[in-house]
Amino acid sequence: AHLPKPSTSFTTEPTTSSIDYQSSSFPFSAAILQTLKKQFNLTSFRLCQEGVINAAVDDRDIVCVMPTGGGKSLTYQLPAVMGRGLTVVISPLLALIWDQVRAMKEIGVECVMMTGATSTGEQNEIYDRIKNGPSRGQKELRLCYVTPEKISKSKRLISSLEQANTAGRLRRFVIDEAHCCSQLGHDFRPDYKKLSMLKTLFPRVPIQAVTATLSAKTLPDLLKILRLGPITDGRSAKTTETVFFSAPLFRPNLHYKVISKPSNAKAAIAEMGRWIQAHHDGESGIVYCLSKKDAETVAEELREWSGGGIKTGVYHAGIDDNAKERIHVRWREGKINCICATIAFGLGIDKGDVRYMSKSLEGYYQETGRAGRDGKDSDCVLFYRGQDAARLSSLIYGDVDGTSKLQEMLRFAQDLKTCRKVAFARYFSASAHLSASAWDNADSLSSSGGSISTCGICDNCNRDPESIETRDVTLESWKILKIAQIVQSEGGRVTLANLGDLVRGLGGGTFGVVGGGDESRKKKRKLSGEKGQLSMDEVGGKVILGKDDTEMLLMHLLLLGYLKDSYHATAFSVNVYIIPSDSAVRLTRLTFDEVQEGKANVKVECTFPAPAKKITKKGKKKAAHTGEGDGEDGEDEDEYEEVMVD
Ligand code: ADP
Ligand code: MG
Ligand code: ZN
Repeated sequence: AHLPKPSTSFTTEPTTSSIDYQSSSFPFSAAILQTLKKQFNLTSFRLCQEGVINAAVDDRDIVCVMPTGGGKSLTYQLPAVMGRGLTVVISPLLALIWDQVRAMKEIGVECVMMTGATSTGEQNEIYDRIKNGPSRGQKELRLCYVTPEKISKSKRLISSLEQANTAGRLRRFVIDEAHCCSQLGHDFRPDYKKLSMLKTLFPRVPIQAVTATLSAKTLPDLLKILRLGPITDGRSAKTTETVFFSAPLFRPNLHYKVISKPSNAKAAIAEMGRWIQAHHDGESGIVYCLSKKDAETVAEELREWSGGGIKTGVYHAGIDDNAKERIHVRWREGKINCICATIAFGLGIDKGDVRYMSKSLEGYYQETGRAGRDGKDSDCVLFYRGQDAARLSSLIYGDVDGTSKLQEMLRFAQDLKTCRKVAFARYFSASAHLSASAWDNADSLSSSGGSISTCGICDNCNRDPESIETRDVTLESWKILKIAQIVQSEGGRVTLANLGDLVRGLGGGTFGVVGGGDESRKKKRKLSGEKGQLSMDEVGGKVILGKDDTEMLLMHLLLLGYLKDSYHATAFSVNVYIIPSDSAVRLTRLTFDEVQEGKANVKVECTFPAPAKKITKKGKKKAAHTGEGDGEDGEDEDEYEEVMVD
């Protein structure tokens, strides 16, 4: 049965069992088009905007996934302006609310905002307008933007809304950046979770959730939290169901690229600085960093490195609201052109062209979504190095689902072959409702027959096939796993970097011993500060691969599940060590000779940058190319991290 629709002047007969919201033949279609032109001064709809607007005018619950910059706001602003009653928009960020309220006021829409910063006088006036409707000579309030905190904490706001609802003047709730509801996604906001109460308190008021990022896992979570019915494409007339829309998520103006980051911090900054100056000198960009401290350091060092040429600013959760506002202003005015931020910056920000590192593929996609919203070409660069994985691992320690998310991210970063668009599509289309086709534009749908076309503009699409090489590295893998096993059985602990050095015969073949192994030996070693000693003879000689390739292979073995992370939380930090996983025995039960003779029934292949490039880069490093490990590789020496002995 159709729910009553007291607050709309349009009706759709509930007699048909099939509604195609994508069509333009609704009784209200002409009115929608007129509002688009007259009120918004736009000529046509983009992506799935019209379908969403149709469903909204028809008072349905909606989930809409559209890329950042796709035009999600219009899908609720237009119905809000067109019908009667009040639309309440819940939005996570003050800056975002500000921008929208200003834009709405500019086009003459009755629009207010209510946040923690709204004065009591102003609040009283708004409550009054919500409760009692317009007083004489006043226009009806169309849109009210609130923060999730406001709606979850203010009893007065809720009781005003209840009063409006009783009078049939509450039209719709909009949850902007709806992925913030789910703890399984990134950007989780506890107050978003409390939005469960909306359906409980206002069962008949439709909810429209919009976002640019929903994965297979986060969609059901979102539906559960918002108490929305199961998903439909709109062709079913059951109003208890939620109409789902998704638009092509890939934006052809975004150029995805992974750049390998030097392991030395100074060199990494220089590399990033050079890249920014070479490609986006004087243009706006955001460098996403992993922590507040990173954001500060990177901003400082980039500025120093460039002699002030790169005008950096810092933005993260620890910066107070006034300072944030100032940064937004200076950024808009071009006095800052490179913001070094944690994820907190940028929701709703409409420029940016540099990327750094994310904890999940969803996060990366969402962050990069902030680039090029004007439709112009922008670069979304991931400065990455396998070693970062350890940092990332420790940061996601304790996160629900964090490990698998991180693995997806690392897989993406390590991949030298798959088109970045295809990789995103695979990741996001693991759900039946976010079909892979959501990534392609409508016209390429029919021809591609379900498979996803490559983007042609990412690094992997443009990579010269000669510049990469896939090699059989079963023997090297066997050595690495053997060494990891020896270290573990001796009670040692190694980080990814340590293990990389160890297998290449650096650092004198020693490793820190802290636990495991034989109890009495462990105690003795701990007392004397003894170190484990590895003889390369045990594994038939060291691994003959350069530092970068070794790291690449270690990451590959992690992603294949032969190696795994082992977390050790101390009072101050979480250390991540690398240990062999259970499946390591699939290789290590074989002898050196068996592997060398190709008797292993498991084969490990890994794609590396082709050696030609390597030789020019590392030509001067003789030690890495000779067979003997003597631990005297100067260039590596200063990067060798001592294992922590706690
Ligand atoms: P999102 O919330 O999806 O990231 P916005 O709603 O902020 O995106 O819209 C991004 C930009 O696109 C805005 O400047 C908006 O005015 C513009 N826009 C939206 N819909 C249309 C349209 N149908 N035609 C032209 N421009 C549009
Ligand atoms: Mg938006
Ligand atoms: Zn591509």
